[in-house]
Amino acid sequence: MKKLILASAVAGLSASLFAGLYGDIPTAKHAWAVHDTNRPNPVKVTPGAQLGQPPSDAIVLFDGTEESFKKNWVDGKGERTKWKFVNGTLESVNHAGNICSRQEFGDVQLHVEWQAPIKVEGYGQGRGNSGVFVLGGMYEIQVLDSYETNPADMKNPNYADGQAGAVYGQNPPLVNPTRKPGEWQVYDIIFHQPVFEGNECKHPGSLTVFLNGVLVQDHWELEGPTWHCRRTRQEKPRATKGSIQFQDHGNPVHFRNVWVRELPCRYANTTHGTFLANERDVMNLRRETAKKLLAKIDRNKVGSQQVKEILEVLSYCDEKPFMDVASKICGGYLAKLEALKPRELDERKGTIKDLRHNYDVLWRNGKAKDCPLGKKIEQIIKEKNWR
Ligand code: MG
Repeated sequence: MKKLILASAVAGLSASLFAGLYGDIPTAKHAWAVHDTNRPNPVKVTPGAQLGQPPSDAIVLFDGTEESFKKNWVDGKGERTKWKFVNGTLESVNHAGNICSRQEFGDVQLHVEWQAPIKVEGYGQGRGNSGVFVLGGMYEIQVLDSYETNPADMKNPNYADGQAGAVYGQNPPLVNPTRKPGEWQVYDIIFHQPVFEGNECKHPGSLTVFLNGVLVQDHWELEGPTWHCRRTRQEKPRATKGSIQFQDHGNPVHFRNVWVRELPCRYANTTHGTFLANERDVMNLRRETAKKLLAKIDRNKVGSQQVKEILEVLSYCDEKPFMDVASKICGGYLAKLEALKPRELDERKGTIKDLRHNYDVLWRNGKAKDCPLGKKIEQIIKEKNWR
């Protein structure tokens, strides 16, 4: 019984906490309040049964079947690739060229597993060399047997910006978490392409890479397309979609479990956040939300519920049409309060304190300072000493 009472009390507490105003209200740069229950919830996604398995919204490009190999992969000309399907993996073939996904992508989360040969021949860049490319071959995350790679080792010389986990030619991996050749290595890659406005590069794009679960590229901002020996720049807008590719660099390298999730361009969100928010977009969304909330108010009634609802509307937008409705509701409720006898006020202690909480949120955000109803409520609470 005690438990039941406690549970009811907690439920009541949370219900009252989330009814009406609660967190700091929208601003010129934020379309939503803090802890805003009107803010749309994220789309539900079912994660893979095990880590590394595709979630429900992933596009599976290779699942270990020959069918997915034939359906999703082609050569650089869009024709049948000479890469081989071997024991549930994709195997690169010397002189076959890169293997390319038939479907093209822009910003993505990409999962791929790769394996350098158990017996790697050669040294340096000749040991299990391949690569994972995004945006149609524009940017390479290096694939290489880097297990014992050391630039100072004369038996196996190499360069840091060409090791596994490197953004090729630009940035070495932060650390080297590679496994031995012959073991499967796991890439989880987040790619955001450059953003141009006309010919002006607003953001160069970025790569974040986990290798075997270890962060090796921490939102690396791309200098330009990755290239051998050459330094490049983000000079001009390019195609915004392209294939995922795996490189043929002459060494037999295997790939498996390839899936991708298309990501929205982060610069498309202009309605919330201090960095990219566009004040006009923010205000449009705030006004739209205010209109939706206003439409739900029963304007035939003038009670505390309607006051709370209209105060919430004002937290989004206090332009004249909304203020006019607020004046009517708050003015009506003020008249009701003024007509109450002291005992009747006492009976409404909870309601009045709840309304004051709503005004508190507005006041601490610099709004509704001169509202006569708010002032009246504050006065009642002071006089009654309801602290
Ligand atoms: Mg390579």
